[in-house]
Amino acid sequence: MSFLGSIGRSMQRAPRPPKRSPTPTGGSHPSSDSVPQSPSSPSPQKPLYLCSPFVEAALVTGNFKTIVMLPKYADVMEWVAVNVFDFYQNLNLFYGVLAECCTQHSCPTMSAGPSLNYTWINQDRKSVQLPAPTYVDYVMTWVQNLLDDDNIFPTKSGREFSPTFPSTMKHVYRQLLRVFAHLYYAHYPQILHLRSEPHFNSLFAHFLAFGKEYELLDFKDVKGQPGQLVGIGALWEKWKEMGILES
Ligand SMILES: [Zn+2]
Repeated sequence: MSFLGSIGRSMQRAPRPPKRSPTPTGGSHPSSDSVPQSPSSPSPQKPLYLCSPFVEAALVTGNFKTIVMLPKYADVMEWVAVNVFDFYQNLNLFYGVLAECCTQHSCPTMSAGPSLNYTWINQDRKSVQLPAPTYVDYVMTWVQNLLDDDNIFPTKSGREFSPTFPSTMKHVYRQLLRVFAHLYYAHYPQILHLRSEPHFNSLFAHFLAFGKEYELLDFKDVKGQPGQLVGIGALWEKWKEMGILES
């Protein structure tokens, strides 16, 4: 059985995690009312994710380069497939826990910076604003459907990856990046409340390092454009300065 074959089966079994946290965190859990989200009128203060000690918090110390290198004898397509699958699963679990704070009321748009709201291209190829929870649900459902599609993620031994696999993975990467960008920009206080910042930072730094190594990331997407900067663009710069990511 191929390496990917074994992964493929676990992909098929993997259930979508609950959208709401299965473990109540008690009365002190911040509600969307007590932690106001106001993407249209952001605080002029530096975001918490850029502040010490949160910006340094990590499960993994050092540079991510070694973690993302292609293992000996591994096929690069399979390596990318396995890692993208893991990034999706981990991000989906985080979002499942944070979903109760990400509502149509708290996040009427898919915000990721002081003047940046992502739009979704609908079936009529029109660009539409969606509430963040709807946007994220569309992304996660779309990626799950790709993972379940044997033509894209072949699970049987002897089946080849399609020539379009790299470009499909780039699309996936761009959309997962947007989910990270929204969570950092709009929900970092809740991540801190859950004391998950070391885990979340390491997951994101790994995602960035992997995306750079295999050219899955378009760095325009990480930084944004003048007037529409992505909040996490500054985090990426900071981590490069700190030596966590390669420049
Ligand atoms: Zn949200």
